[in-house]
Amino acid sequence: MTDTTTEKTPVTLLGLGTMGTALARAWLTAGHPVTVWNRTPSRAAALAAEGARVARTAAEAVSANPLIVACLLDDTSVEEVLTDTTLTDKDVVNLTTTTPAQARTRAKWAHERGARYLDGGIMAVPAMIGAPESGGYVLYSGSGPLFEQHRPTLAVPAGTRYVGEDPGHAALHDVALLSAMYGMFAGAAHAFALLRKEDIDPTTFAPLLADWLSAMAPAVHRTADQLRTGDYTKGVVSTLAMQVAGTPTFLATARDQGVSPELLTPYFTLMHRRLTEATGEEDLTGVIDLLLRSEPTA
Ligand code: NDP
Repeated sequence: MTDTTTEKTPVTLLGLGTMGTALARAWLTAGHPVTVWNRTPSRAAALAAEGARVARTAAEAVSANPLIVACLLDDTSVEEVLTDTTLTDKDVVNLTTTTPAQARTRAKWAHERGARYLDGGIMAVPAMIGAPESGGYVLYSGSGPLFEQHRPTLAVPAGTRYVGEDPGHAALHDVALLSAMYGMFAGAAHAFALLRKEDIDPTTFAPLLADWLSAMAPAVHRTADQLRTGDYTKGVVSTLAMQVAGTPTFLATARDQGVSPELLTPYFTLMHRRLTEATGEEDLTGVIDLLLRSEPTA
C-alpha cells in the first residue's frame, strides 16, 4: 500500500511509553487505522477507547499491517520485541533512540529478516507530537524509496528530515544535535551560577540569556563554511588570540563569585592548545580538529 491512495495507511505501533502513545494518538486523530502493542497491556487502554486496535502480542501487531513503527526504550528492547515476529515484506520504521552503530546493525538485522528499514531520531518531546506549530521533527535515514513512500504518513506526528541512505545517520544527527544542546545547557548553568549569590532575579536574567544564545547560534554557519573550505580564518569576527586573551577574565570572575570553572575549563584548555599550534588569526573552529581521534575510544 502507498500513501498516494486516498486511504489512510494503517500503522502498527510497538511501544506505548509517553512518546509511543503520543505518536499513536497523532495517527489516530488523523484518521489512520492504528494497531498498538505494549509489553504492559494496561498502557493501551486509553488508546483503545480512542479507536486503536490492541494486539495481544507483538507478533500479532506486526502481522496486522505492512508499516511497523517501533518506539521502545532502547535497541535491546527492539530486538527482544521483534525477535519472535515475522518481518518478511514489512516496512520497519524504528524511532527508538540508539547509537549510529546500533542503527546500522539493526538495519542489517531487519534486512536479513526480509524487511525494509528506516531509522529515526525524534527531535521533539511528546507534547510536540501532533502539534506542527511546535517545530518538532523526526530525522530519518535508511532506504530513500521507503522514506518517500511513507513520507505523508510519517509527517503526521511531526515534521520529517531525511538525512541519507546510511541507516546510522539519523541517530548520528540526533546525538550531535543533543550534544550541542548539552553544551548550551552547560553554559547556561555556569551563567546562572555566577549570579546565584547576588541579588539578581534569575527570571529577569533568563530573557537576556535566551536572546543572547539565539543571537550567537547563527555563528555555526560560519563554522560550517570554515570546515567546508578548510580556511579557519575566513570571515573571522573574534580571533582565537583575542578570545584566549580573554579567558583569565572569565576564570577570575568565576573565582570571585565562588563558582567552579569546571564547565568552562575543558573548552578553554582546547582553545589554548590550538593557539600553540595554529595562527591566532583563526576562529575557534580549530578546536574541532583537536577533538578528533584516529580510533573510536572505548
Ligand atoms: P518510556 O520510558 O515512557 O517507555 C518505554 C517503552 O519501552 C514502554 O512502552 C516500555 O514498555 C517499553 N519497553 C522497555 N523495555 C522493554 C522490553 N524489554 N520489552 C518490551 N518493551 C519494553 O519512553 P518514551 O516513550 O519516552 O521513549 C521511547 C523512545 O523514544 C526512547 O528511545 C526515547 O529515547 C525516545 N524519545 C523520547 C523522548 C521523550 O521526550 N519522551 C524524546 C525523543 C526521543 P512498558 O510500558 O511495558 O514498560
